[in-house]
Amino acid sequence: MKIFAVGRNYVEHIEELNNQRPEEPVIFSKPETALIRKNLPFFYPEISQDIHHEIEIVLRISKHGKNIQEKFAHKYYDQIGLGIDFTARDLQQKLKEKGLPWDLAKGFDGSAPISEFFSINQFNDLNDLNFSLNVNGETRQKGNTSLMLFNFNYIVSFVSKYFTLKKGDYIYTGTPKGVGPVVIGDTLEGYLENEKVLHVDVK
Ligand code: MG
Repeated sequence: MKIFAVGRNYVEHIEELNNQRPEEPVIFSKPETALIRKNLPFFYPEISQDIHHEIEIVLRISKHGKNIQEKFAHKYYDQIGLGIDFTARDLQQKLKEKGLPWDLAKGFDGSAPISEFFSINQFNDLNDLNFSLNVNGETRQKGNTSLMLFNFNYIVSFVSKYFTLKKGDYIYTGTPKGVGPVVIGDTLEGYLENEKVLHVDVK
């Protein structure tokens, strides 16, 4: 199973990190060992002193596909969920400055908490989905999929030009503004269309 993620997909998040607006989606991947399921806790690792939360909508690929045309891409995912793309911002900053790959900053153990998945049929419009993240009961991130630079179908089509997609693969679709550090003791709660679907305690 593969886990892909899109960087820099929401303009206001690009601006808060002083990044460039990309011409094409910025894609990276995480290993399977990054996943945390069933609302289990995240154990703050020693590799970083500045781990940030990034709440994101996650697509679950429903069938095998390669070189998928954008107009058919909606047939290749049938469920969505919510995930956190934990990022070791201190490491990422160093790697970015040197032009090096982000793997260590993005793919470490536990860097991808993920919720249960829900049929896309239960949502009215995938291009108008609200999602948010509360930290200790306070809203820190709030997004709507209408604000994405690249929508779900474009992302699926784009990724499939490079990687054969298989049933069960995940794609994290980018985070809205409001990213920030987590500390041990924090409680993170993710909401999809006002429904709480993700809970992560930082230990
Ligand atoms: Mg992200």
